[in-house]
Amino acid sequence: MKIRILPGVQLTLGVCLCLSGALLGAAEVNVYSARKENLIKPLLLRFEEQTDIRVNLITGKADALLQRIVSEGDHSPADVLITTDAGRLYRAQQSQVLQPVDSQILKESVPRQYRDPNGYWYALSLRVRPIMYAADRIRPEELSTYEALGEPLWKQKICVRSSNNIYNQSLVASLLAHLGQEDTLRWTERLVGNFARPPQGGDRDQIRAVAAGQCGLAIANSYYLGKMLTSKDPAQRQAAEKVKVFWPNQEGRGVHVNISGGAVAKYSKNRTSAIKLLEFLASDDAQQWYAETNFEYPVKPGIRPSKMLESWGKFKADSLNLHRLGELNANAVMIMDRARWK
Ligand code: FE
Repeated sequence: MKIRILPGVQLTLGVCLCLSGALLGAAEVNVYSARKENLIKPLLLRFEEQTDIRVNLITGKADALLQRIVSEGDHSPADVLITTDAGRLYRAQQSQVLQPVDSQILKESVPRQYRDPNGYWYALSLRVRPIMYAADRIRPEELSTYEALGEPLWKQKICVRSSNNIYNQSLVASLLAHLGQEDTLRWTERLVGNFARPPQGGDRDQIRAVAAGQCGLAIANSYYLGKMLTSKDPAQRQAAEKVKVFWPNQEGRGVHVNISGGAVAKYSKNRTSAIKLLEFLASDDAQQWYAETNFEYPVKPGIRPSKMLESWGKFKADSLNLHRLGELNANAVMIMDRARWK
């Protein structure tokens, strides 16, 4: 049963068909998820089966959900927040709507760089933001690093979405962490100078623009390419087949990565169940599901990625602790502004 309660926010009452948990005194957990229902619900159903903990799911846009928890204050029914991008999880922590969790299982499952140093959030899946290039026009030998995308060779050849998108803000924040203020500003200005068109659309639109010849390369999250390659729409599949993945900075720090992650809400009334759910989402089974279904990478070491992900080859990931992306977000936004990245 679904009830619309706010524009863009859906409440799903009990993903299982069990009797009211309150009535039976059964354990339950309220999840606020910025992940779309189809990307989380199958896992929640499995969790319900395994634990007898009833899950109530609310999905919505990431920023709207965070706003909602903040405005609900200590009356918030939220137990677990699931959202994308370390920058957003950091923002949630700064907004004081999360509580720290000290779980041995989570610490063992989630590598240090993918969890908050004080336990306020833990990554659940890994997303990678590589360079994507036109297979018929660009030779991979011409590519090397994000930094090199500022070179004159790429004049009017680069497509990327706008600076108000957190994926790009986090990418620039990672450059700030590695290169410092001056060099990051200079790089951002040069990159913007190489744009083929004013930023528009989402990551899929950048991939489409590469396929259509509007630009030679794009910066986009790799799962979008996976979704396009397996799309029911032949136009999307055809576009995606013209585009290849290049992992930048492999000789150095590694490709920029980000996460989806989960946290326990500050005023959670079902803390034990909330932690159990996060532990479940970090388990082998759940990690495997993420990699197969959404073309994201498992965050837990030792889990094999899907066949498609393997076909794109192995990569070295930047080992920067992702809470730095949050700390540096405001600075990154300022730099993108100064560089006139629309
Ligand atoms: Fe996305």
